Amino acid sequence: MASRRQTIWNRADGRCEYCQLAQTGTSLPHEIDHIRAKKHRGPTTLENTCLACAYCNAAKGTNAAGYDPLTDQLVPLFDPRLETWSDHFEWNGPILKGKTAIGRTTIEVLGINRPERIKHRRLLLQTGESGDEAS
Ligand SMILES: [Zn+2]
Repeated sequence: MASRRQTIWNRADGRCEYCQLAQTGTSLPHEIDHIRAKKHRGPTTLENTCLACAYCNAAKGTNAAGYDPLTDQLVPLFDPRLETWSDHFEWNGPILKGKTAIGRTTIEVLGINRPERIKHRRLLLQTGESGDEAS
């Protein structure tokens, strides 16, 4: 039987479940994220964990919510277990667009479109190493 860690990795196909960065696209190891942080009594279960890149995980910390940059309303962060990524996010080249309040807020709190991260993704797209079948 696969370990919980292996199950989480396989389920995510080795990609960050927030920004979709493939492990092959970075030398920093991906991490197991508690969607609801341990600090907020989040359990270590398959239902409360996801694979996150080191950038997203560090920026997320114990955050569970944020303020929508468009409306300034408090909204929860994207939950990869309960929600579908493509309902909330879409790519515009190397820039991630939020389609919903949850998408916009998650992008902001996790720093997904910070300039150095866009630069990193642009490089991966140029070299064809983003791990996308389309590239
Ligand atoms: Zn990420």
